[in-house]
Amino acid sequence: MDGVYAAGDVCIKPLRQVVTATGDGALAATELEKYAASMQRKTGIQPEQPSAKIKALPTDAQRNTRGDNALFTPEMSRQLDEVFTRMERPLQLVLYLDDRPVSAELERYITELATLTDKLKVQVAERSASVQEAPCVRVCLMDGAYTGLAFHGVPGGHEFTSFVLGLYNAAGPGQTLNEETRHAIAGLKKSVHMKVLVSLSCTMCPDLVVAAQHIAALNPHITAEVYDLAHYAQLKERYHVMSVPCLVVNDEQVVFGKKNIVQLLSLLEEKSSVPVRV
Ligand SMILES: Cc1cc2nc3c(=O)[nH]c(=O)nc-3n(C[C@H](O)[C@H](O)[C@H](O)COP(=O)(O)OP(=O)(O)OC[C@H]3O[C@@H](n4cnc5c(N)ncnc54)[C@H](O)[C@@H]3O)c2cc1C
Repeated sequence: MDGVYAAGDVCIKPLRQVVTATGDGALAATELEKYAASMQRKTGIQPEQPSAKIKALPTDAQRNTRGDNALFTPEMSRQLDEVFTRMERPLQLVLYLDDRPVSAELERYITELATLTDKLKVQVAERSASVQEAPCVRVCLMDGAYTGLAFHGVPGGHEFTSFVLGLYNAAGPGQTLNEETRHAIAGLKKSVHMKVLVSLSCTMCPDLVVAAQHIAALNPHITAEVYDLAHYAQLKERYHVMSVPCLVVNDEQVVFGKKNIVQLLSLLEEKSSVPVRV
């Protein structure tokens, strides 16, 4: 029957073993995804996307108990303050918004984050057709220069810490790196644009996000933009994303899985040995 899938011993097949059961499961999951997408196109019915769950955000009930409306608990504010105090230069967080509820969520989140320190200023960019992938927060210097770091969606859940580390790395001095790694980052001379596609509940994603944004913060030829896939279904389709984290380099090379900064550097160095599209 169309749209009904089965996996494992329940199927009629010549070999009932664990290996065939898991194979059936993988096949069923991918076929189901294609079938659901084709039915969405055919019927025009789209699933309702639950709005991103942000671990960093206390629930309304918790806020009511505290008697305030703040997103960040005093404990979180204290931890953030330690990072903000060490930031060498202030940053501007430029918001690109659209009419989706997630845009309002991002605006509130970033605005409230900026109230915790005088090192962060918020700027809302004029709406323009050229910014296709709103909502987005771009990390810029105070003169407006783009640092190469951006987050599309709301940097909550497991991406909250990586977002703050991105700010710290962009503002300097940033996380400690050995000389060899710094030298290798500075040695990348070709333009590289990385898209890091994540989900906020993924525990593997932040490592790659931090690595990519650290490299971008230290090298002006490199950008690292993070996307919460819950809000960018078109990217999932375009790059055939089957798992996260997914890294897209210069819109050409798609690689999956977590990577630390050294692993990511060697991948980019391979890429730099041939001319890349800017
Ligand atoms: C004795 C024996 C030895 C085997 N040795 C091997 C081997 O060495 N190597 C190998 O590859 N394969 C082996 N197999 C086969 C292998 O175990 C099965 O092919 C495989 O486990 C099938 O996986 P499955 O997920 O389809 O089913 P199962 O592993 O049977 O899982 C089905 C699950 O559904 C649960 N369930 C059933 N009804 C309900 C319900 N109404 N509500 C909720 N849950 C329910 C069951 O409790 C069970 O946990 C062996 C099988 C047996 C019986």
